[in-house]
Amino acid sequence: MATKNASFDMITSWIQSLAYKRIRFIRLLSQIFFTGLFFGGLFGISRTSVPVPVVVPAGAEYATVWGGFDMLLYTLTRGHFPFLILGVFFLSGVLFGRAACGWMCPVGFWQDVLSWVPVKKKQVSREDNQALAEIGGTILWVSALAAIFVGFYTYIFNGAPIEDQPFTVIPWAPLDPAGTLFVSIYEILRWGLIDKFDFIEIIKSFGFFFWFRFSFLLLIAFLGVYYPRSYCRWFCPTGALLGYCSKYSILSISRDPLKCDSGCDKCEKACPMGVPILSYEPDRIQDSMCISCGACIDACGDNKALAFKFHF
Ligand code: SF4
Ligand code: SF4
Ligand code: SF4
Repeated sequence: MATKNASFDMITSWIQSLAYKRIRFIRLLSQIFFTGLFFGGLFGISRTSVPVPVVVPAGAEYATVWGGFDMLLYTLTRGHFPFLILGVFFLSGVLFGRAACGWMCPVGFWQDVLSWVPVKKKQVSREDNQALAEIGGTILWVSALAAIFVGFYTYIFNGAPIEDQPFTVIPWAPLDPAGTLFVSIYEILRWGLIDKFDFIEIIKSFGFFFWFRFSFLLLIAFLGVYYPRSYCRWFCPTGALLGYCSKYSILSISRDPLKCDSGCDKCEKACPMGVPILSYEPDRIQDSMCISCGACIDACGDNKALAFKFHF
């Protein structure tokens, strides 16, 4: 009888805990929907030229859209100014901040799935979190400058593209762990499982550069298990660009000080991006790291001190 009651209590508390994860549940549905849509070639949807402000590797044969940063670099290496894609990033950032990272990005979704691995999560200090985020900004600028150089060289000296090499088409793509995961690993699986090539022969054919990329992917995955959204926080150039645009966002989290139980910091502990929520003015918690995931709102629970707010 006691065991039956204990099981009943466990189920009841699990159902109650779901009530505090309502945003997480809706966001999960959104992430599944957009991942299915952006990788819709797997279900027969045709490819388009639509740019989106999240990571969708250009080399994925089943992608239906263009990842924004890949398209930006591609446009620059072809000697054009990326008006359209900068407009997409700016508009998305101004209207919704980095919500695309929280609700739409397949690589962000993959990071969330990694964080479900039941190990004790590790924290970094605020200062280290900010300092590490500079890596993503540096990748953004170095890749963009390399792409501008290729574009200028092509446009001014040749009038024709430099011979297409991986780094001269989309300079970040050959190193992008999303490309390794969603293009290279996918192709290996397809060759082995569908085309029936010998896996051992496939693996033997890879050179140093593949193993270098593969090791980088493993490192990112390992970090993602212990430090939720670590790729999004510290390395992703797409997220860094969206972060710049989100400074002007009309969407933010707001906190009602009358409902906020001082001393409780459940919201900050729940934040996967390490946003120092309580250090901001309550009316507008606007941080370039915030991906509008709502984990802080879920964590605040019955206090209901946090909410999404549009500032017009
Ligand atoms: S930071 Fe990059 S990988 Fe992470 S969700 Fe945003 S676009 Fe995707
Ligand atoms: S979880 Fe809610 S009540 Fe607790 S500190 Fe954060 S906003 Fe305040
Ligand atoms: S501040 Fe809240 S909404 Fe923003 S990333 Fe952190 S948990 Fe998500």
